[in-house]
Amino acid sequence: MKLLQLLPIGDLDTRLLNALGSGMASILRIPCEIATTRIDPEFAYHGERQQYHSSELLHAMQAHVTTESWRVLGVTTVDLYIPILTFVFGEAQMGGPCGLVSAHRLRQEFYGLPTDSEILRQRLLKEAVHEIGHTLSLTHCDDSQCVMAPSHAVEWIDLKASSLCEPCQARVLVR
Ligand SMILES: [Zn+2]
Ligand SMILES: [Zn+2]
Repeated sequence: MKLLQLLPIGDLDTRLLNALGSGMASILRIPCEIATTRIDPEFAYHGERQQYHSSELLHAMQAHVTTESWRVLGVTTVDLYIPILTFVFGEAQMGGPCGLVSAHRLRQEFYGLPTDSEILRQRLLKEAVHEIGHTLSLTHCDDSQCVMAPSHAVEWIDLKASSLCEPCQARVLVR
């Protein structure tokens, strides 16, 4: 059976990564492992924006896809962007195999609030499942509770569930 592989991009808290792995394994019902290699994100840093170009990281992840991979999900704490947007929580290749999420703007501290590791874990899990949904060719969903609902701010993420709504689930299953 193929694996969902979590690929650290830069330094990452092991507990957060492990919690994400077990959360994703139970929601997606697929074995999950944390890659032993990692990507140094510095090549994708753009000084003029003081952010990291998400698509460049996604492209570099391609080299980490193996015959064992079901999907490869990059996980980082650096601030991601694509040129047309101020920031992105994550990005994915529509139809697979790679997706990427950042915890940077999911942390309460980013908004001047006290650290809350449980909120961070929940948000990261939802955004990770969301990006995997895109790798399964799912587009955004109108159901605000569905993990595939678009989220342009953390408040939107907090409102949704970490799982797919029934119609989205059915769309994945027919493939
Ligand atoms: Zn999306
Ligand atoms: Zn849905």
